[in-house]
Order: sequence, then C-alpha cells, then structure tokens
Amino acid sequence: MQYVEISSDFSAAHFLESEYIHGHNFKITAKFYGNLDKDGRQIDFDKAKETLDDICNEFDHKVMLPLSAENRKDNTATNKISVQGKNYEIPNDDIAFIPIRATTAEYVAEYIVNRLKEKFKSKNLKISVELEENYDSSATFFD
Ligand SMILES: [Zn+2]
Repeated sequence: MQYVEISSDFSAAHFLESEYIHGHNFKITAKFYGNLDKDGRQIDFDKAKETLDDICNEFDHKVMLPLSAENRKDNTATNKISVQGKNYEIPNDDIAFIPIRATTAEYVAEYIVNRLKEKFKSKNLKISVELEENYDSSATFFD
C-alpha cells in the first residue's frame, strides 16, 4: 500500500459554545490511497495541491461558522453572533459558512475529505485529512 500526501494551510478563527473566539494557523495534510493509473500515478500532484489550496483559501483569514438557520449569508450583509455572553457583528465577507454541525477540527477535516472525494470521485481513491490546530494537536478523518 502506498499513498500520496499533499499539504496546505490557512489561518482562521472559530469557537465552540464552550469557548471564546480564537484563531489557529491550521495545517492540513491530505493523503490519497488507491491503485496507480497507467502512468504509474495515484493522483496528479498539481491538481491535488490546487484543489486543496482552493478549499483552504475559502477559509483563510475568515471566521468559520456552521451554516445553519441562524447563520446564513442571504438577506443581510452581516451576521450577529453571541459567544460566551459577548455579541459580535461580523461582515459576511469575513465569514466562511461551512455546512457542518460545529467548526471543530474533527468536522472540518471530514468536510474537506468530502470535498476532495467529490472533486476526485472518478479516481476511486481513499482519502484521509489531518487538520492540525497546533503542532501538538490534530484531528484526522478517514473516508
Ligand atoms: Zn480552536
């Protein structure tokens, strides 16, 4: 068994109900497992890197928010959020709305795996994504 590994990064803020708003320089490592094609490649390195960078750019320098009934980008230019008794009004341009339950590293890693699976669905690859919040802590999702 072998795999191809592609990395990227982004800087973003997030919070859980039990936390204050804070940020990380997230590092992401995607691994692609599968059979080699007739040219002896698992995946085109450049395409994989470009796809991962594009996804990271959607989050870079943004506040990550779960896309939900109360967090939406339609109708208003800003979103009001309340965290630990503090109220914030954030321009939608500065928010990355993500269709997940909460912006934990675990859910974000799963979301990125699903995005990569969708992009490379013709290749029949297994994909894992490790999302590091810090050098000493990360979450990994395997499809
Ligand atoms: Zn955090």
